[in-house]
Amino acid sequence: MNNTLVFATNNLHKTAEVASILAPQYAVVNLKDIGCHVDIVEDGDSFAANAMLKCSYVFENYQLDCFADDSGLEVEALDNEPGIFSARYSGERGDIINMDFLLKKLQGVENRNARFVTVISLMKNGQNYLFEGKIEGKILRAPVGDNGFGYDPIFVPNGYDLTFAQMDSELKNKISHRAQAMQKLIAFLKVN
Ligand code: IMP
Repeated sequence: MNNTLVFATNNLHKTAEVASILAPQYAVVNLKDIGCHVDIVEDGDSFAANAMLKCSYVFENYQLDCFADDSGLEVEALDNEPGIFSARYSGERGDIINMDFLLKKLQGVENRNARFVTVISLMKNGQNYLFEGKIEGKILRAPVGDNGFGYDPIFVPNGYDLTFAQMDSELKNKISHRAQAMQKLIAFLKVN
């Protein structure tokens, strides 16, 4: 049985975390480990489409089972923007500039409802599977907290009075959109 599973990411931390959970059943490797140095174009129109683009690229070019994730923030009052454009909402990459851009758009807006979403696409034995994680919350009027990344300082998940950036990584990684999608993937892989 070939039990190698590629995580289509360059993030070493993410790879190590999943690798340790799935060992010894699977050997999880990342793009660098398989010699894939291409910047895979993510021009899909949804999280699922972008995640599928990444894992199909690996499957077609390396014939290896693979999974990929794509995430972002959806703000209700902004018609679910920034969505798939979360990483460069302002036109540039940079957490502070994108957070400021979002806060300006929400100036004077009462509806602060938002959610983080992650979709993981898995290609296994030629079949595609999707796993989704979501966490609902509210957008603050100004950033609070120093941990995490992206929009963490302005997002308070429902049921908590801390932003993601005020939480320790242990708590965020238990409840986050990414954690929920990953838990679904792991549960599936353990029995398939
Ligand atoms: P990625 O698909 O995981 O690379 O996420 C794309 C973008 O969505 C990131 O660059 C962030 O701007 C935003 N994002 C995704 N997940 C999170 C999170 O957990 N906290 C804050 N921002 C996030």
